[in-house]
Amino acid sequence: MMHKANFNAGPALLPQEVEEKLRRATFDFGGTGLPIWSISHRSSAIEQMCGESIELVKELLNVPKGYSVLFVSGGATTQFKSWIMNISGGRVKTIGYIDSGHWGNEAIKAARELEVHSFCSVRILASSAKDKYRFIPYLANDECHECDFVHCTTNETANGTQLAFELSPQYGGGTWVADMTSDIFSRPFPVSCFGLVYAGAQKNLGIAGATIVIVRDSLIEDGHKALPAPLSYAEQKKWKGALRNTPDTLALCGVYYTLQWIQKRGGIAEMQKRSRERASALYSAIDGSSVFEGVCADYARSTMNVLFRLRDQGRHDAFLRLCERHGIVGIKGHSGSDKHYGPHLRASLYNGQTMENVNLLVDLIKVFDRRN
Ligand code: PMP
Repeated sequence: MMHKANFNAGPALLPQEVEEKLRRATFDFGGTGLPIWSISHRSSAIEQMCGESIELVKELLNVPKGYSVLFVSGGATTQFKSWIMNISGGRVKTIGYIDSGHWGNEAIKAARELEVHSFCSVRILASSAKDKYRFIPYLANDECHECDFVHCTTNETANGTQLAFELSPQYGGGTWVADMTSDIFSRPFPVSCFGLVYAGAQKNLGIAGATIVIVRDSLIEDGHKALPAPLSYAEQKKWKGALRNTPDTLALCGVYYTLQWIQKRGGIAEMQKRSRERASALYSAIDGSSVFEGVCADYARSTMNVLFRLRDQGRHDAFLRLCERHGIVGIKGHSGSDKHYGPHLRASLYNGQTMENVNLLVDLIKVFDRRN
């Protein structure tokens, strides 16, 4: 079988070592002699796995005291509403949103549905919609001061933009909440500046089915009574952070092995170094070409999802065919972004991505450049 160079945006390429350990876990998890899916979630093997994962998250991300690490199911999409229901047991909270792209917008739509039922009051603090989401909009400090919470998306997977933490000294105003689904564990971030962070695992942290929530303990209330118990932060905290009901143990195992792999590789600083190397190789090839061009504003370019396109869009399909012939998969852009950028390409460079795959794509960009 031909080696596939996988650039999918998530579910995405896992580190080879993690894949191999997961394969082993499908017939013998941790020396139990049983496949991971046949072990009780109340067994010591699973409790230990979850406990160690939580400790690894705290160590790798430098999570300060006074925060809990939880694992829930339902993906980041569930969190769009779930976090609000978790913190709005009492008074209606004002939430300021940064409308930075496709996923920021999805979070806003979900919050508006809850607004109708008086869970929250939604404000849009800044938007780059008019500029086709080619950058994460700048937020002036005073705009967040009237909000209880400020929600941001740190990496816009479908738009190829990323929030620069260094450029965001404005963590003022309300408590900051972040959807970090597509860049968590790829770079350090100041956990203490956020009250709550959530992310689906299927990009940088393993396979779909597990969602991580890092939350300041003082924000954990009982939550709204309409909240299903497994989504309640208070309930999950009582149940070792992940085991209120039967979780997706295979997904949790994927997270566990990926965290171990990140630690063994040198932690988050090393993940950041490698991701910068991959992204810079690819952006340099695009910038050095006369037939391709980047899509986003230079200063907002994501290290996780590189968006680019043919200057002559009539050549788009020919380039896709060339990629396919060389075993490259998953580089078609997000369909929701075609309306902004026309037919375009997206190469996702999460933690499991290899320099070998990036070099192959860079070579094809050069080949196509010479031919055209
Ligand atoms: N937020 C971001 C930034 C994403 O990239 C995605 C998935 N691509 C989601 C939310 C939704 O995640 P899920 O499908 O796990 O609900």
